[in-house]
Amino acid sequence: MTEPSPELMEKVVNLTKRRGFVFPSSEIYGGFRSTWDYGPLGVLMKRNVMDAWWRSMVQLRDDIVGIDSAILMAPRVWEASGHLETFTDPLVDCRNCKERWREDQIEGACPNCGSHDLTEARPFHLMFKTFVGPVEDDASVAYLRPETAQGIFVNFMNVLQTSRKKPPFGIAQMGKSFRNEITPGNFIFRTREFEQMEMEFFVPPTEAPTWFEYWCRERRQWYIDLGIPEDMLRMRQHDPEELSHYSAGTADVEFLFPFGWGELEGVANRTDYDLTQHATFSGERLEYFDQASGERYVPHVIEPAAGVGRSMMAFLLAAYDEDVIEGESRTVLRLHPRLAPVKVAVLPLSKKETLTPTAREVLDLVQPHFMSDYDETQSIGRRYRRQDEAGTPYCVTIDFETLDDRAVTVRDRDTLAQDRVSIDKLVDYLRERLPL
Ligand code: ATP
Repeated sequence: MTEPSPELMEKVVNLTKRRGFVFPSSEIYGGFRSTWDYGPLGVLMKRNVMDAWWRSMVQLRDDIVGIDSAILMAPRVWEASGHLETFTDPLVDCRNCKERWREDQIEGACPNCGSHDLTEARPFHLMFKTFVGPVEDDASVAYLRPETAQGIFVNFMNVLQTSRKKPPFGIAQMGKSFRNEITPGNFIFRTREFEQMEMEFFVPPTEAPTWFEYWCRERRQWYIDLGIPEDMLRMRQHDPEELSHYSAGTADVEFLFPFGWGELEGVANRTDYDLTQHATFSGERLEYFDQASGERYVPHVIEPAAGVGRSMMAFLLAAYDEDVIEGESRTVLRLHPRLAPVKVAVLPLSKKETLTPTAREVLDLVQPHFMSDYDETQSIGRRYRRQDEAGTPYCVTIDFETLDDRAVTVRDRDTLAQDRVSIDKLVDYLRERLPL
C-alpha cells in the first residue's frame, strides 16, 4: 500500500510553480483567494487530461455525443434543478478566532485555533450570483453554473432529435463551473472556479442499476489506464444521508492524496429527477418515444462527473519520482505519454552553429506530429534533467555524427535507453511509442 507522504505535496506544488505548470492567479497583486492560472506546461497537460477524457467518452464510442452549452442559463433552470433551494453547505463560525468553516469538513473544533466555541451551522449558498444587462434588479439576476450537467438536461430533446441516438446513450460536456466554496484549498483540489468533465447517460429506467455499475468500473479504469496505481484509488459508496437531493445512489472515485483520500469523480444515479423537474418547470415534454414498441418513458440518468484540476493534481502526484542516475539525483514526472505536456524535446548536443540547421530540420519534422520543445542552452545533462522534470517522454539529440550518418539519439525518460534512429524513420519510431 502506497502511503501518502507529507512532503510530496510540497514538492509537487514547488515543481509545478518552478516549471510553469500552475501559478497563483493575479500574483503581482498578492494572489486572489485560492485562484490559480495554468502556465505553458500546465495548459498543455490540462488539455491533455481533457482530450483523454473526450477521446474515451466521445471519440471511441458510438453511444455518446458531446455538447458545449453556455455558462449563463435561464435562472429557472436552477429553480427546477433544486440548486436555488438546496445547493448549500453548512457554514459555522468560530466565535474565538472568527474563522469560517464547512461543518462537514471539521470535527467539532476550529482547525485554526482549536476552540469548540462554534456557532450553529447555517446553510450557505454556493452559487455565484450576477446581473445580466444594465439594471441590477431581481428580474436581471443570473447565476454562474455550479455544474455543467444542467446544460445537458435542458438540451436533451435538441440532441435526441438531431443526433439519431436512442437510450441507452449519453451526452458529454467539459467546461467551467463556479462554486462559492467556503474553504477552498489544497492547491488546485478545491477552487471556486474549476473545470468539469461530465457525462449524462440516459437509459431505460429498469437498466439504471446495471449502467451505474458499468460506469463505476469504466471510470475507475480510466485513471488506471492513464497511470494511477490501483492502490492509490478506491470506490466509496455514499451513505443514504450523504446522498444529493437528486441521487438514488452515488459512488466516488477517490485518490490517496498526501492529505488523505479525496474525491476525483462522482458517479451518480440521478434517476429521472432532472428531466422530470425540467419538464414540470418548462412545460415541455422531455421523454423518449420508442417507435418500435410504442413505449414512452422518461429516461433515467447515470452521471460520471469529474474535475479537471483534481485529476491533473492526482496524475502529477502519482507521477512524481526521484531517482539516482550515475550518482546524480534527478526528479522525474513519470506521466503517461498521453498526459505529458511535451512529448519530444529536440536537443542539439552543443550550441555550435554547425548543428543548428540539422537540429532545426529535426524540429520541423516532429513538430507537426507531437508537441515538441527545442533547447540548446546549458549542458546536455542539465537539459535532460529539465525534460525529465517536465515529464517529457523522449529527448532527441543531434550530435556531430548526425551530420555524417543522418541519425539521432533518442533517449527514453523512464528506461534511459538510448536508440540511434535515422532521421527518415524518426517520426514512425516516435509514433509507435507515443499513443494518440
Ligand atoms: P466535494 O464534496 O469535494 O465538494 P462534490 O461532491 O460537491 O465535491 P460534485 O458535485 O460531485 O462534487 O462535482 C463533480 C466533480 O467536480 C468532483 O468530483 C470534483 O472533481 C469536481 N469539483 C467539484 N467541486 C470542485 C471544486 N470546488 N474545485 C475543484 N473541483 C471541484
